Amino acid sequence: VGYGDPVDGGSLTRSHAAELDRADPLRRFRDRFEHGDGDRIYVDGNSLGRLSHDARAAIQATVDEWGSRLVTGWHDWVDLAGRAGDALGAAALGAGPGQVLACDSTTVNLYKLAGAALAAREGSIVVPADDFPTDRYVLEGLAAAHGRELRLLEADPVAPLGVDAVAAAADGAALVVLSHVNYRSGALADMAAISRVVQAAGALVLWDLCHSAGAVDVTLDAAGADLAVGCTYKYLNAGPGSPAFLYVAERHQAALRSPIQGWFSQADQFAMGPRYEPVAGIGRFLAGTPPVIGLAAVMAAAEMLAEAGIGAVRSKAAALTALAIDLHDERLAGLGFSLGTPRAAVERGAHVSLRHPDAWPICRALIEQANVIPDFRRPDSIRFGLPPLYTRYTDVWDAVDRLAALVADGVHERMPAEAARVT
Ligand SMILES: *Cc1c(COP(=O)(O)O)cnc(C)c1O
Repeated sequence: VGYGDPVDGGSLTRSHAAELDRADPLRRFRDRFEHGDGDRIYVDGNSLGRLSHDARAAIQATVDEWGSRLVTGWHDWVDLAGRAGDALGAAALGAGPGQVLACDSTTVNLYKLAGAALAAREGSIVVPADDFPTDRYVLEGLAAAHGRELRLLEADPVAPLGVDAVAAAADGAALVVLSHVNYRSGALADMAAISRVVQAAGALVLWDLCHSAGAVDVTLDAAGADLAVGCTYKYLNAGPGSPAFLYVAERHQAALRSPIQGWFSQADQFAMGPRYEPVAGIGRFLAGTPPVIGLAAVMAAAEMLAEAGIGAVRSKAAALTALAIDLHDERLAGLGFSLGTPRAAVERGAHVSLRHPDAWPICRALIEQANVIPDFRRPDSIRFGLPPLYTRYTDVWDAVDRLAALVADGVHERMPAEAARVT
């Protein structure tokens, strides 16, 4: 049997997965994305989501507007960051209007909001020791610039963040920065409970939503979150390097100021006055000219998600990851794999992490020999990202089937060992 020839085996048959596809209420959304993969199975939408026809059309329309309208286009483009932010807030983030902007990158937005929080509050900064690198690096720089202690919270590699552990670490902190869905394990934190204990300790909480926006039903307002940032090129499918977003709860907006005093956050911007005075409201967290072409794709992504409904997306994410976990238990556990993702659906996002001592050569063999595209995260995880709008249950089945066949045959043992620049 070759890697392209799936066979039924065990109790979780391919026909079972095909049955789930037929019953999938989101199944029609798959056709609204570009595929053209042939035999390829793409399970890396948690790194870069697929191109949708809607995003392509929105980008093309904006390029055409640029061509025809030139600078007069700014009458409509000038407030696009706020409009796209409101659309994302409603479709994906559980945030009421006037609290979200689509702008800059996640890294820059994190810098702006964490910097604003530190200027407003005394105390240390807390971040999990294994959190995504850009978050830790930005906070390391801010801690040095503001003369604050950076406390690294040791967390379990698989289980969701413990509420008590965060509460203990938040004591004496100005700011606690946490990922809602952990980028390695996929573990989902309890945003409401954790926000409460951080606030009770007198600190602000800043959530990184990169792996949860468009994957799970984020409820920023209802959970009482203070601040949040996230990207739109993973589960929101707005394209490589698309504008990110930021959220500042309305109650905090007047007291916080962005450390980047750019002209797009200036009151009476086109008066071009001598001194900086930020506008009231969320607009004070803008920096410079918005990336209009990229924002067109963000708007299209928010509209598609609103149409699908984040509740349906969350349900399908739970079911896709459950199938992957069951298949892990049946087909992979006997081959040296262990599960790096929580087993309870309420404790995970839309990706699963498969741990194996030879994860890197296996990942490489999967890509090069079996035409399955996952990604690898140090030290030992292969991530299968399963974006609900376009991933089929049979994709999960086929990806695990190829993975099991490849490892059983020892194909990875014949792969060269050197690392790649981008994993
Ligand atoms: C993908 C990701 C980022 C990316 O930040 P960029 O500024 O877009 O490079 C940040 N944080 C987390 C948790 C991520 O998963």
